Amino acid sequence: MIKYRLRCANDHAFESWFKDSATYERQEKRKLLECPVCGNPKVERAIMAPNVGRKGNARTEVVPAAAPDTAAPSVPAVVPGPAMPAEMRKMLMELRQQVEKNCDYVGDKFADEARKIHYGETDQRGIYGETTDDEAAALADEGIEFGKLPWLPKGN
Ligand SMILES: [Zn+2]
Repeated sequence: MIKYRLRCANDHAFESWFKDSATYERQEKRKLLECPVCGNPKVERAIMAPNVGRKGNARTEVVPAAAPDTAAPSVPAVVPGPAMPAEMRKMLMELRQQVEKNCDYVGDKFADEARKIHYGETDQRGIYGETTDDEAAALADEGIEFGKLPWLPKGN
């Protein structure tokens, strides 16, 4: 005789005696087993874990839970930020190519050039370049249309 610890699909654990493991397997295959609690025929052998092993597992689970106090501060420095989704990156790269093809690069003179264009002091054209948040806010106040986009470094 052999005693198996069994578990039904509803997570009821119970024990059952069999003549031998072949008998168990035959009954299991023919769906002759059922849970004595709920009658569920979906029964499988529970993993036999000796109590000692379970205590050992519990102890290893406790250690990482207590560790973050010392481990946490170093984590942000090591873990890189969430990666930009590939599709978004692709879109931004295409946008950049469009801008580079169709607009004049004015570097950090963006705010000046945008004003000149806006007030008709220079040719009407598309430009791109860099500007500070303050300058961008000033341009917006003056009603100058422009867009801000995250500029991805090339080849990245
Ligand atoms: Zn059950």
